[in-house]
Amino acid sequence: MSLKNKKAIIIGCGIVGPSLGIALKHVGINSKIFESSKSTPDFGILSFTSNAISALKALDMFESFQTNSTPGTCFYKHSGKILKTPNFFQELKKHNINDGITIFRSHLIQVLKDKAISNGIQINFGKKLVDIQEEPDKIIANFTDGTNAEGDFLIGCDGPFSKTRNIILPNSPSPTYTGNIWTGVDLGIYTKFDLVPNAFHMTFGKKAYSGTLTFSDKHTVWWTNVPCSENDLHKFNEMSAEDWTTKLIELHKDDHPRMVDSIREGKNKHVRIPLYDIPHLPTWHKNTVCLIGDAAHATSPYVGQGAAMAMEDAVILAMCLRDIPDVNDAFTKFEKLRKKRTEKIVKTSQQSGKFMTASNPFKQALRNLLLPVTISASIKKLNWIFSYKLDWSEKIK
Ligand SMILES: Cc1cc2nc3c(=O)[nH]c(=O)nc-3n(C[C@H](O)[C@H](O)[C@H](O)COP(=O)(O)OP(=O)(O)OC[C@H]3O[C@@H](n4cnc5c(N)ncnc54)[C@H](O)[C@@H]3O)c2cc1C
Repeated sequence: MSLKNKKAIIIGCGIVGPSLGIALKHVGINSKIFESSKSTPDFGILSFTSNAISALKALDMFESFQTNSTPGTCFYKHSGKILKTPNFFQELKKHNINDGITIFRSHLIQVLKDKAISNGIQINFGKKLVDIQEEPDKIIANFTDGTNAEGDFLIGCDGPFSKTRNIILPNSPSPTYTGNIWTGVDLGIYTKFDLVPNAFHMTFGKKAYSGTLTFSDKHTVWWTNVPCSENDLHKFNEMSAEDWTTKLIELHKDDHPRMVDSIREGKNKHVRIPLYDIPHLPTWHKNTVCLIGDAAHATSPYVGQGAAMAMEDAVILAMCLRDIPDVNDAFTKFEKLRKKRTEKIVKTSQQSGKFMTASNPFKQALRNLLLPVTISASIKKLNWIFSYKLDWSEKIK
């Protein structure tokens, strides 16, 4: 018996939702996607290392982004003095790992959605999951607008604050706040900074860790990590755009003028995203419902792996559903194949975040001293993340 004639309900059309729809289609399973919002998120960029590129290739999508190569990363002290580190991507190459690419989040999601639609997958917007009913022969997803959808199994692709997770695993741990709010701005075509294009320019500011990326056409984005206690989160989120801009200027006033220039240039347009992760859930599935992507293992962005893991999940879950005739067994196998890796990446990102965003001056000095000499070894140590390859021809048993 195969699951080929079964119908999947996918909740969420961020990164992993449409990726899963495409991967399921690849193995002959039809799905429908239900997304709460009506628009595509329009913030930030995503850096993809070779494991994410392997997932894009498996989804037959790499060609859309092939030209987005980002061959370098430079690190700077707060003053703008460059830290003489070996080139990150050159180091990766030494370990036979391809170049990285950088993609605007909104572009990636648009391309994923277009591909899903061209594969015949229906995407329904403005459908916010509120409840799930499991019956012996079907599963029903109920939405806040009073409508519902029926299928044979349901996959929660609804991000770190997953409603699907709350419904099937009500006692599971909540996402953990990391202590930083990510904020940034798209400066558009911006010629003021004379930075090497297509490279990440990361600055260890006195009070915040910040980045600038300029593409070859001078399209420039800037972002920073604002330290904030959990108690102050509400206050910071509620701050007016003007007050937020003032706060950012204050945060970076002792750093290289590029920071304050970026803040002023993007005045009042800075997106604010409190960063959460999910280091561990006791399980990812129950009966005919399973969680993938950030809903199962949200991570902080310090090793740039959340979307990569999400797309890896999509391909592996589709392979499990292709090769294992029982949905629940397929979910069990999927969790077994993915949990160890994803939990280890979440932990690695936590550690990297602590190192990169250190606020104690002694730790900052030590980091600036150590980074140039340890980066090669660190990349080698992280090879297990980047060298992960997906192969449709592999049989899942
Ligand atoms: C600042 C930042 C930088 C990052 N940089 C990188 C990077 O460089 N590389 C990388 O690989 N990863 C990066 N990530 C991580 C990456 O963005 C996430 O891991 C990825 O978005 C996870 O995809 P997802 O589809 O699981 O969740 P999401 O992208 O969060 O999508 C979930 C979707 O579900 C929808 N939804 C939520 N609730 C409901 C509901 N009740 N009903 C219906 N729909 C619902 C949401 O509207 C959303 O569209 C970064 C993250 C951040 C915050």
